[in-house]
Amino acid sequence: MGMQESTARRLIDPLGRTIDYVRLSVTDKCNLRCTYCMPENNRDFERRERYLTFAEIERVIRAFSELGVRRVRITGGEPLVRAGIPDLASRLAALPGVDDLSLSTNAVLLANQAEALHGAGIGRLNISLDTLRRDRFRQITGNDDLGRVLDGLQVASRTGFEPIKINMLALRGQNDDEFIDMAEFCIEHGFSLRFIETMPMGTAGRAATDHYLPLSDVKAELASRFDLVPSVMSGGGPARYFRIDGSRTNIGFITPISRHFCDTCNRVRLSVDGTLHLCLGQAHSVPLRPLLRAGIDDEELQNVIVEALKLKPARHEFGEKPEQIVRFMSVTGG
Ligand code: SF4
Repeated sequence: MGMQESTARRLIDPLGRTIDYVRLSVTDKCNLRCTYCMPENNRDFERRERYLTFAEIERVIRAFSELGVRRVRITGGEPLVRAGIPDLASRLAALPGVDDLSLSTNAVLLANQAEALHGAGIGRLNISLDTLRRDRFRQITGNDDLGRVLDGLQVASRTGFEPIKINMLALRGQNDDEFIDMAEFCIEHGFSLRFIETMPMGTAGRAATDHYLPLSDVKAELASRFDLVPSVMSGGGPARYFRIDGSRTNIGFITPISRHFCDTCNRVRLSVDGTLHLCLGQAHSVPLRPLLRAGIDDEELQNVIVEALKLKPARHEFGEKPEQIVRFMSVTGG
């Protein structure tokens, strides 16, 4: 066995960062075409036969959980366009060691699945929503389903997911007049709100950096309207939180460009075709599917994961090499 592993089996990378979080992309497909994520006419999706099966996903996540991973986020593309996610979720929730199972979704298909997803063991949700205006939703996503998203949020709220976090990409000249409105929407419904900076992921992501807005501007605007009290939230993510005084709403700022958080990175990503991506902002990766289908056993699989961690880069180079990452955000999920 390589790498430093204590008897508690932890994954520690060359920089001494403990990796306890896997973001699992179960599809690269989506029912939206957000301008900053995937080009409208994109047809370049992974072939079905190269998708990891639920049994293969369960094997890989089991290997990770036995190496100390306790957080798993199901993401996409849009995970709910793949059939059977409640079944997959219950299999992952049953794995010893996995004590934090969550889902990222655009909520278009959430209303009908919320009950089953919650019952399967998904405790908390991140919902991508960049605007509350129907015309703008159509403009950003290429789709007219804002109503279904808001229905999905209501059902999810009644179902008991806690917390429900809204992820809003800050887009200069596109939604930067809605930050206060979105904060008030979240206060009214008891949601938390995270702002995210654009990242040059693929052609769509690079185009979106024309609308880049450092979140220090967003925080200043919110602070002119609300009293922001430093706070923390569970979840293992990179957001820096402030609670809006007098409310339950936390505001989070995810700043990969203006103030990166790579020094405390705790995650890796598994894409739908079984590729282990060591960093969102780098190309370092290891294909696991061929090994799984070649009959690798569980111990060997863990060795491969431990060896792969040696490749984990120190940080992204979005600023220095914005053209470097060709894959769309939808391939690995944020
Ligand atoms: S860019 Fe890479 S190193 Fe930085 S936080 Fe994301 S995954 Fe970790």
